[in-house]
Amino acid sequence: MLRGRGVSPGVVSAPVVLLGEPLVEPDGAVTVGPADRAAEVSAIEWAAVAVADRLRRRTDAASGESRAILDASRLLASDPELVAEATALVQAKGRTAPRAVWEVGSAHARQLAALGGRMAERVADVLDVRDRIIAEILDVDLPGVPERDEPFVLVARDLAPADTAALDGGNCVALVTEDGGPTSHTAIIARSLGLPAVVAAAGATGIPADSVVLVDGDQGTIEVEPSAEVVEAARAASAVIAFDGCGALADGEVLPLLANVGGAADAETAAAARAEGVGLFRTEFCFLDRGDAPSVDEQVAAYRAVLGPFAGRRVVVRTLDAGSDKPLPFTDPQPEENPALGVRGLRLARRSPQLLDDQLRALAAAARQESAHVEVMAPMVATVAEARGFVERCRSAGLERVGVMIETPSAALLAAELFAVVDFVSIGTNDLVQYTMAADRLLGELGDLNDPWQPAVLRLIHAVGQAGRAAGKPVGVCGEAAGDPALAPVLVGCGVTSLSMSSRGLGRVAAALAAVTHEDCRRAAEAACSASGAEEARAAARRVLANPENPLY
Ligand code: PEP
Ligand code: MG
Repeated sequence: MLRGRGVSPGVVSAPVVLLGEPLVEPDGAVTVGPADRAAEVSAIEWAAVAVADRLRRRTDAASGESRAILDASRLLASDPELVAEATALVQAKGRTAPRAVWEVGSAHARQLAALGGRMAERVADVLDVRDRIIAEILDVDLPGVPERDEPFVLVARDLAPADTAALDGGNCVALVTEDGGPTSHTAIIARSLGLPAVVAAAGATGIPADSVVLVDGDQGTIEVEPSAEVVEAARAASAVIAFDGCGALADGEVLPLLANVGGAADAETAAAARAEGVGLFRTEFCFLDRGDAPSVDEQVAAYRAVLGPFAGRRVVVRTLDAGSDKPLPFTDPQPEENPALGVRGLRLARRSPQLLDDQLRALAAAARQESAHVEVMAPMVATVAEARGFVERCRSAGLERVGVMIETPSAALLAAELFAVVDFVSIGTNDLVQYTMAADRLLGELGDLNDPWQPAVLRLIHAVGQAGRAAGKPVGVCGEAAGDPALAPVLVGCGVTSLSMSSRGLGRVAAALAAVTHEDCRRAAEAACSASGAEEARAAARRVLANPENPLY
């Protein structure tokens, strides 16, 4: 049994597949003697046929745009020129099969790049086919997320945002990483795809490939080769609790429960889970794999697809939060020594004001064409001047309700002044915790510091809640803390007026809130905020809320 942090709920069992290591350039100094060259040539021919076959099977199973992309790759793999040129290199110069394919594939890619325009767009496809054929010859997995016809658990040291995005629609049923923290984007995407996930699981990459594991995303455990009884019992315990679409406390006080989404598919899932609206639309998730900036029209289409399922309801759209651990290639990220403290979120507009203005224009157009109530907010705000500038730009673009995220201690401490400028705030606890505790949210090793129960964090949330109450303006929480059923009453007691979380979490949080009154929440918040440490805060809240009607306490 391995232990880590459960960051996305659910229980599944399936065989382990390890994330493919990056393909290293085959050594050009190794040569093959004349007697062995025929074997190298046939290795190339077989590998090209096998790759084309696999791509054909995947093309048949795919639809829409992915079908067209796969079919184009299949044609490249079947290209007789590629095989003929690689064969010639083996025969004439004694190159090994992988080296010959590497050289020919790379040369084709260079030629396409030099042609520019539409031809240059094929470079990545050519390199992909080159790597597929080499991986086939060497009998190793492709770099990145493996493709499998059967369900599998993906185990990796860590995953890049693009790797996790590639999981959508595949056969991966759970994620396990050795690094990563509970608020890393691996964890966030796993939650949005509904994949159980455990991060910071020391020793996970040592689990032999193909062994069956039981991943418990609630308990944060990975059991190797579990018995059938153990698998069944764990599944029963992790069932999703349905949400009836009305968040409220036991005394009738209404507490809207909203969903965090990253695109159209999430929005549909959230609407089906009866989320009362969207409390955080992470717009950057629509464009993580884009090399060029999306046009205004493309953005309008992406935003409308999220607004559509929430007709008549509130959708809080966050402007691009690029930078730090979510670099967007088209924002031209510069290498930074401390990217979490660098040019990310709203700060990007200092460099590229047009990018923000285009996004606001697209949002305003999408809002006009749909009937959801659109609100817009900026990430990573530290000063009142930044908030004022953002509000002005939003209003000029035609957006009415404007807010900011509270993610920096500075913004939390300036909440009263911020409320004089904005219509609402939403507390991003993932970043607020990392900046308050000075602990990188991606480091599993510092998970104890990256804990929203830390009293310093709770006191900042309390200060924001009180400022919101004084101003008569809403205070949301949209960080992962909002989905913790034990913490939700404490947040409400701090003055928070809505909670936004992954769709799967709605039912559990609703059940926790339905069992407590506002006065219970207030007392729990007071007790937790006065504690001296995170564990003490948990225990203090539990003591106040202990209630036979509430199974959580
Ligand atoms: C947060 O920081 O809590 C938040 C919601 O934003 P993100 O996780 O996307 O940084
Ligand atoms: Mg954030």
